Amino acid sequence: MARIVQKFGGTSVGDIERIRNAALRVKREVDAGNEVAVIVSAMANVTNQLVEYVHEFGALYDQKEYDAVVSSGEQVTSGLMALALQELGIPARSWLSWQIPIHTDDAHGKARIEIIETAEAKKSLATGEVMVVAGFQGIGPDNRVTTLGRGGSDTSAVALAAALEAERCDIFTDVDGVYTCDPRIIAKARKLDKVTYEEMLEMASLGSKVLQPRSVEMAMKYGVRVQVRSTFDEANGTLIVDEDEVLEKEVISGIAYSRDEAKITLVRVADKPGVAADIFGPLSEANINVDMIVQNVSEDGAATDLTFTVTKGDLARAVAVLEERRDDLGYARLVPDPDVVKISIIGVGMRSHAGVAQQMFSALAKEGINIQVISTSEIKVSVLVAEKHTEKALSALHTAYGLDVS
Ligand code: ADP
Ligand code: ASP
Ligand code: MG
Repeated sequence: MARIVQKFGGTSVGDIERIRNAALRVKREVDAGNEVAVIVSAMANVTNQLVEYVHEFGALYDQKEYDAVVSSGEQVTSGLMALALQELGIPARSWLSWQIPIHTDDAHGKARIEIIETAEAKKSLATGEVMVVAGFQGIGPDNRVTTLGRGGSDTSAVALAAALEAERCDIFTDVDGVYTCDPRIIAKARKLDKVTYEEMLEMASLGSKVLQPRSVEMAMKYGVRVQVRSTFDEANGTLIVDEDEVLEKEVISGIAYSRDEAKITLVRVADKPGVAADIFGPLSEANINVDMIVQNVSEDGAATDLTFTVTKGDLARAVAVLEERRDDLGYARLVPDPDVVKISIIGVGMRSHAGVAQQMFSALAKEGINIQVISTSEIKVSVLVAEKHTEKALSALHTAYGLDVS
């Protein structure tokens, strides 16, 4: 007998029929004699709708009430899933985050799980009852409901699997695993049987939204065995594993993209010590994360151009912060550009291979795609290009690195 965590995403619980279908997947584990905790997302699109309702109240809404509203989708599906299981003759009970409880910090809208109390959960599982847990939500220090950021049910599932020392955490979704690139954009994308925690963390952080980055971080930290698989067929999914479990290492395992980037160029900033600190200090104080940065060499030693990226959602605020300080910073012009995409190649094999980045640059050059900003780390290279080139760039890179299915 083992303890298993199964998570079902929005499409997998998109209507009553699908909830019944997902319940059959749970039944199989129960019939095999396992203790099962199920995490559910809200029904497909429900969270988007709830977010839109909140946005009706303007941009400066109360974050605690945002969480009260957007966490509600998961309450509905947890109850419905418990009913679907009961219909199959399986004892099941829904659990909201405060009932377990799942404690988080107070960062409403993007809270982090701090500790999960497991005494009640373990007692319940030991009776043979299936726990159906509302994903995405937690309970903050002041006992108010919090949410974990979009896609956060993945993190609820992995965190619960870690806390319960579960043998497996299966993430059921609408694709049958992690692919070399988003299969909805690249038809020739290939399913990976295994991917390392590190690569998956980069892919997720760089835009592959099949898993929330925080869930991968947590799986890596606690050694949770995560498998991404389809709710709709029986195919084996993708296992996320330690690096030594991957025998044949590809140089590039995946290509990710993020449209959630916006570029800001400050034209003719003074080229002298302290300027970067003067620009990025106020942005960081305003809680705006800066991602890629490039500073051009100044021709006359007096002024230079500085380009960097922020998320699309932060663009307006970043522009406001910089314009407010225009006199102190003394730049000639500020040019915002939301029409950009960040494309990244990821692979642990990069550590031991030279020329990987060069291959990326020439594949893009061959397509006539101009690279605006570059950033690298040990296992990834990212470039910023015009958003209209997204599909063409992904497809060219996928072919260039030999990732296309034959
Ligand atoms: P769920 O609602 O089940 O959590 P998500 O929409 O959050 O599902 O995540 C699944 C989606 O992630 C897929 O439909 C796919 O379009 C997208 N995706 C992006 N990159 C990848 C990738 N490399 N491999 C698989 N899916 C990916
Ligand atoms: N329902 C939430 C969202 O849409 C959480 C999740 O699906 O993981 O972001
Ligand atoms: Mg998701």
